[in-house]
Amino acid sequence: MTKPVIIAGAGPAGLALAIGLAQTGLRILLVERQEEDMLSDPAFDGREIALTHSSIAALKRLGAWEKIAPGNIHPLAEARVLNGKSPLALSFDAGRRSTAQLGSLVSNCDIRRALFASAIEHSGIELIAGVSVEEVSTSDHAAQVSLSNGAEHVGSLLVAADSRFSTIRGKLGISARMNRLGKSMLVGRVELERHHDNAATEWFDNGQTLALLPLGERQASAVVTLPDGDAERLAAMDPGALGDELTRRFARKFGQMRMLTPMHNYPLTTSYSHRFITKRAALAGDAAVGMHPVTAHGFNLGIAGTERLARLVAAGCRLHGDPGHPVTLRRYEAGHRAATWPLYAATNAIVGLYTDDRAPGRLARGLGLRAARLAPARKAVSKLLMQGA
Ligand SMILES: Cc1cc2nc3c(=O)[nH]c(=O)nc-3n(C[C@H](O)[C@H](O)[C@H](O)COP(=O)(O)OP(=O)(O)OC[C@H]3O[C@@H](n4cnc5c(N)ncnc54)[C@H](O)[C@@H]3O)c2cc1C
Repeated sequence: MTKPVIIAGAGPAGLALAIGLAQTGLRILLVERQEEDMLSDPAFDGREIALTHSSIAALKRLGAWEKIAPGNIHPLAEARVLNGKSPLALSFDAGRRSTAQLGSLVSNCDIRRALFASAIEHSGIELIAGVSVEEVSTSDHAAQVSLSNGAEHVGSLLVAADSRFSTIRGKLGISARMNRLGKSMLVGRVELERHHDNAATEWFDNGQTLALLPLGERQASAVVTLPDGDAERLAAMDPGALGDELTRRFARKFGQMRMLTPMHNYPLTTSYSHRFITKRAALAGDAAVGMHPVTAHGFNLGIAGTERLARLVAAGCRLHGDPGHPVTLRRYEAGHRAATWPLYAATNAIVGLYTDDRAPGRLARGLGLRAARLAPARKAVSKLLMQGA
């Protein structure tokens, strides 16, 4: 019997890859440190993921999309970008495409729940939950892992999908560019007095970045990015005071806001691994590329990468009879780098420009916003928002 592919981490990327590989007939060993009940019914974590049409198509192929309750899928018709007190708003929509929306918003916990439900339907996936991968070693012929329960397993390929803070990446000898931003993103659900028109609003204000993501009738996800200490203070406020504080910060654009959930606090770190592969091992999802959430592409790039890897591994099995063949891994690395690096660099440039509150920075982003209002630029951004890389 051929050795299994070992995947460390059953987050969205690890689950998507496990299903994609199992669909090609491979055996998978999926190791996750969280307990199984947390995987089958993950708690709400504040994240609402803006899914591109490509990601929705991928979730359909993985058998996960139909497992998400239709009432938990929220249309995203338009995205608006505001700059400080400027009355200029940059608007992106689906244009004349057959589909009337840019994409859909779905909670991260609903995506994880659906992917997990699909994964456990595959007899080729063996899940080891409540156990972490502790040590790894790879050679020309095999990848070996030691688990926290003392077990050892040997595979034909090891994929680390263990988050942007991946420890396995380091144990494989791969370093990463880590960028701790000193800012945190607070996310939570609010009820609004005024309707949001199914439009996402991103507002680069002085000293803070705000976003409002439309969910249901008068509900939305409020996203507030602040220096770490300020974010901690806001997260600790009682719900009534926090609702008033958000109403004030959003300048009553949506009327009075009322908290529906606590705000979850994410200190922001971006990461880009210097390599995505080594002998009989590859990095997937955030372990390869940890995007800044502002352009909403982390999950979208991650799932595109896992589809790429599953496709190449299947082709490698047909050609070489080996899931971890070096040619397969090199092709994955080249393809994933080409798909991610331009977006990663562009996102960081946007973050730098739009969070620079000094006068030249403010002027540059005002000019940038005017240039981006030109039709070709708007069309290009809309396409990116809908399809991803
Ligand atoms: C506030 C916020 C908003 C976001 N919005 C969007 C958006 O709109 N659109 C978008 O595309 N992306 C968005 N993202 C990004 C998206 O959430 C991530 O890209 C995605 O969750 C990464 O999935 P992953 O599986 O790679 O990693 P993770 O979700 O971090 O999962 C890693 C898994 O590995 C497990 N693990 C770790 N170490 C080990 C080990 N040693 N052994 C076994 N298991 C281990 C962990 O328990 C975890 O389950 C957002 C992120 C944030 C923070």
